[in-house]
Amino acid sequence: MSIPSNRQPPSSAQTIDLFVWGPLFKTDIPELDAQHQRLLNMVNQLNQMLIETEQWDPRPQEFFGVVDELRAYIQIHFGTEEGLMKAFSFDPAREQSHRQVHRSFVRQMERLTMEAHVNPTETIAHLLGFLSKWLINHIVGVDVPMARGLKLMQAGESPKAALAAEKNAMRHTGKALLLAVDHLYDTLTLRAQDLLSVKYRLDEEVMRRKKTEVKLLQQNQVLITIIKSLPGIFYMIDPAGKFRQVNPLLGSVTGFSQVELEQMSVQDLFVPEDVPLVQQKLKEGFESGHTWVEARLRLKSGDAIPYHFTGARTELDGKAYLLGLGTDMTRHYELEMELTHLSQTDALTGLFNLRHFLALSNKELARAKRFDRLPALLMFDVDHFKSVNDAFGHQRGDEVLKRIGEVCRRHLRAVDILGRIGGEEFAILMPETSTRSAWEAAERLRRSIAAEQITLEGATEAPLQVTISIGVAKVLVSDQHIDSALQRADQAMYHAKHGGRNRVSVSDS
Ligand code: GH3
Ligand code: MG
Ligand code: MG
Repeated sequence: MSIPSNRQPPSSAQTIDLFVWGPLFKTDIPELDAQHQRLLNMVNQLNQMLIETEQWDPRPQEFFGVVDELRAYIQIHFGTEEGLMKAFSFDPAREQSHRQVHRSFVRQMERLTMEAHVNPTETIAHLLGFLSKWLINHIVGVDVPMARGLKLMQAGESPKAALAAEKNAMRHTGKALLLAVDHLYDTLTLRAQDLLSVKYRLDEEVMRRKKTEVKLLQQNQVLITIIKSLPGIFYMIDPAGKFRQVNPLLGSVTGFSQVELEQMSVQDLFVPEDVPLVQQKLKEGFESGHTWVEARLRLKSGDAIPYHFTGARTELDGKAYLLGLGTDMTRHYELEMELTHLSQTDALTGLFNLRHFLALSNKELARAKRFDRLPALLMFDVDHFKSVNDAFGHQRGDEVLKRIGEVCRRHLRAVDILGRIGGEEFAILMPETSTRSAWEAAERLRRSIAAEQITLEGATEAPLQVTISIGVAKVLVSDQHIDSALQRADQAMYHAKHGGRNRVSVSDS
């Protein structure tokens, strides 16, 4: 076959022969059979081209190249056939009509080819249909029976015997045609099935994609809803620190509009002192995949709010981003401060508790030792406090203790460390204070407390007065811990008690 073709059919294209050469088409005249076979091949080729045009760029020039070649070859074939008929003819009229059939085919092909050139999309299939129908009728319906007769004539039989054989062969033509059409039908069914399964696969793919799309949309919606309702600031930034996505909370917290935020970089959102830390943490997040930072968010109003940000690296379309959540730490810090305060102070008097008094005093001791300016320590206990409780009740006793605390605060310097170290026992560390100054301060305090008229809330009886006994001790360089000084002050206080109470006693060591 000399079809001008240099293209490679697509690998997915399946070759489906419209006609399969077989006994049905055989005339047993080798020359004719070879020509018929070639004609069938050409029609098969045209059919294949038609199938492929659906899948890739149609090439009408190639198609018409084969059509032209087929038309030329059919002329040769007709010549061969007509030559054979002439050599073995026994019926000129029949010979004549056969020739006419040939001519009419040539004309019809010419017309259809012209039409197909003008309007290929609509008429190429029609041209191929005509060719196929003609080929079956021509080979199976005409040539095969005729060949029977010719062969008998070639073998020297009489024209009568040849005609009888031909007629006999024609009786089978109907059946043979039916078989040929049957094959064509099978081929077409296969092709239709093929198309159907392709269509089914495409439908399935479309459905699957639609479902995936809906699912993605739903997931996206859920994500957006979650991000919007997050109790913190959601952000997504690129390595340059530009915001790629934020939830509305960032805007409402900072007071910056969405447009303003889009222009800003992360660094613009923090107070200047915290920016270097934020930048370092951003770098760390992009490098290691995780980070967190506590920094003050800068508001449009000029205020700042402490925030805790988490950060996790993620990748989208091959680009790295950092995303995370920011939480307002204001309440956290407030609580922390409250807790610290609670853990350091005595709830009744608001003075430092024993633990914190000791901690601060030890710190002062260490500092004082470095500068060689040692503090003095006062310790006092309320005199006959049991009887206050007994006379007025424990609750009133508490009020008295509270008042003593207030008097102390009034009379002491801001640097003095004042603590309630026991039930009705107090201690005061006076930084950089000599024993004498401490004694003077103790005396002033003792007198103030003794002079204090304590009116209890809602009480009808006369104001109450209490006294205290104070022990004073100088803190020594040899003191490793404030405890040793406390012991000396305690001893001095013991002496004050024994000396008659309401007095100040100074430790002599
Ligand atoms: P002294 O002059 O020897 O110190 O006599 P005192 O009665 O004060 O005796 P002491 O110091 O031994 O007793 C302390 C009393 O103070 C015992 C207790 O009932 C009372 N007290 C201790 N802590 C509190 C407190 O937090 N509130 C009240 N209302 N009373 C307390
Ligand atoms: Mg006591
Ligand atoms: Mg007492």
